[in-house]
Formats: sequence, structure tokens, C-alpha cells
Amino acid sequence: MLSFAENECTFCRACADACPEPVFLEANERAFAHVAAIEESCFAKTGVHCQSCGDACPETAIRFRPRLGGAPVPEIEAGRCTGCGACAAICPAHAIIMNTPETA
Ligand code: SF4
Ligand code: SF4
Repeated sequence: MLSFAENECTFCRACADACPEPVFLEANERAFAHVAAIEESCFAKTGVHCQSCGDACPETAIRFRPRLGGAPVPEIEAGRCTGCGACAAICPAHAIIMNTPETA
């Protein structure tokens, strides 16, 4: 089971190396089909200033759109997202989920 509740995937491939079954993709292929998505429970969407996810993203895939009279809100550039989960692990609102393209 893959969980980003406490930490992200660093793509070290230790799981793939340890697994006896041929279930992992090759190292030069994209590891995950999912990309991150932000739910309405995001603090910034409720007016509280928070940019923790953007600070944590190693791909600079999260930008913050300024809003008049409100906190800047995060937006994820799906094309840059590797699905590593660093943003989900650090989000204090537990507002980041991973969507597969079918559910995005
Ligand atoms: S870390 Fe979570 S609460 Fe903070 S801006 Fe990102 S999605 Fe919103
Ligand atoms: S899953 Fe990783 S790459 Fe994608 S937005 Fe979150 S921190 Fe950035």
C-alpha cells in the first residue's frame, strides 16, 4: 500500500528492488499514473495564508494565484507533477489527494 500520510516517495526504487514480482515499471518510465489535486479543505482556499505544499514540491509544480482580499490559492501544474506526494505529506489540512487521469 502506498501512503503519503507521513512522507513522500523519493523514487529510490528500494521497493522495486525488494519485490520478487514483476509489477514495477522500468526506471526510465514514469513511476505513478496519479497526479496531485487540491481539495476544498485547503486552508488557503478558506482565506488562511499557507504555502507549505509549494515549498515542499521538488518539481515547482505548485504555483499560488493571488486573489484580491484573500490568501493566494495553490494550483497544480499536472504536467510537472511526478506524484511524489511531498505536498500531501506536509499539508496541514490533509487537502491534497492523488488522482489518476481517469478521475482527475
Ligand atoms: S499545504 Fe495544504 S492547506 Fe497549505 S496551501 Fe497547500 S493544499 Fe492548502
Ligand atoms: S505530488 Fe510531488 S511533484 Fe506533484 S505537486 Fe505534489 S510535491 Fe509536487
